[in-house]
Amino acid sequence: MKSTEKIIALTGGTLINGTGEKPRKDATVQVKGNVISEVGRGIDLPQGTDIIDVSGMTLLPGLIDAHVHLCANGDPSMLSMIQHPLGLIQLMAARNALNTLEAGFTTVRDMGAVMGFAISLKRAIGMGIARGPHIVTSGKIISQTGGHADFHLPSGISFGHMSRIADGPDEVRKAAREQIRDGADWLKICSSGGVMSPTDPVDTRQFTVEEIRAVVEEAAAVDKSVASHAHGTTGIRNAVIAGVRTIEHGTIMDEEVTALMSEKGVFHIPTLAASHNIIAHGRESSIPEYAMAKAEQIAEHPARSMMLSHRGGVKVAAGTDAGTPFNRHGENAKELELMVEAGFKPMEALMAATKIGAEAVGLGEVTGTIQRGKWADILVVDGDPLRDIKVLQDRSKISLVMKSGVIEVRRGL
Ligand SMILES: [Zn+2]
Repeated sequence: MKSTEKIIALTGGTLINGTGEKPRKDATVQVKGNVISEVGRGIDLPQGTDIIDVSGMTLLPGLIDAHVHLCANGDPSMLSMIQHPLGLIQLMAARNALNTLEAGFTTVRDMGAVMGFAISLKRAIGMGIARGPHIVTSGKIISQTGGHADFHLPSGISFGHMSRIADGPDEVRKAAREQIRDGADWLKICSSGGVMSPTDPVDTRQFTVEEIRAVVEEAAAVDKSVASHAHGTTGIRNAVIAGVRTIEHGTIMDEEVTALMSEKGVFHIPTLAASHNIIAHGRESSIPEYAMAKAEQIAEHPARSMMLSHRGGVKVAAGTDAGTPFNRHGENAKELELMVEAGFKPMEALMAATKIGAEAVGLGEVTGTIQRGKWADILVVDGDPLRDIKVLQDRSKISLVMKSGVIEVRRGL
């Protein structure tokens, strides 16, 4: 759907604009074409304006999930990936993108997709072939041999279509250039072990600082950034020293590392929903034993590390890791509930999924807040998320979702 210069006004709602300012009652947000043209009270609306009365409801910026895997469905084992023809995985990703949009998330950053499919999906959405959020995407994950995204099974059989294995600065540099050639907006690496990979302890380092630096240099050369999967402190520190922009998971933080991140303006995306869902579903759920053991080993850490970052002045953005076991696309707002449970105020959780989220994924200039000139990415909720953050998970309360001025969801309005 292409935007027109049509004018739409959402009137009478309580506005939470995403900047952290106090809510404003009886606000009007005027949209012209694909951008927000006016925000305030008692705005003179031109003749012909399509007025939508949202009295009693809350107006928010469209939400942002800074870490998803659109190609993965939330199945207990990653092995489900090899059961499907690749074309089917692409179609599933399209369905996952639509679920996400309909849940009020107008922007996601995909942190690793089979065959780099999130890149095609982004193009398909841009062409109007599929419906979904704005997508910022990393293509394939760059991992060392035996690293978190090296999907060789113990038999030696590999399902490596989600990652690019590379070792040594030269090869890693080439892997980075390949992702850029294929259309990635970001580069994603793994600088520590992970939960869903069988043989690498979560707190070990992966890639040397020199290798990570090679990726960062290639990204910087074309004005792009690098995200690093990192659980343990050494892996986090190495990635930060080498110049990555976001730390994914950041499970085991300490004060030294948060000080370094704060100083360098590196974002932390704690992905609380990922380990929460693994632990909540437990050993009966056919999640592999090694993954259960690792998730249990770090269970207490994600929430604690998020608050350590927060207190240390690190910007924390909301990201679910949707696609990991039982972590379904469309249930992304669970992350905000978990952030509040861990110690964030509801307003802080909302900012993590709006303004800070936009900054983290590199779209801070264009989305994440309801301000004049920004993309018209807007969510109307029938309820008050500052009172009950869980209202964002109730699909029946998601009354309107607008993306770039186009109304994608309209329920009872
Ligand atoms: Zn992930």
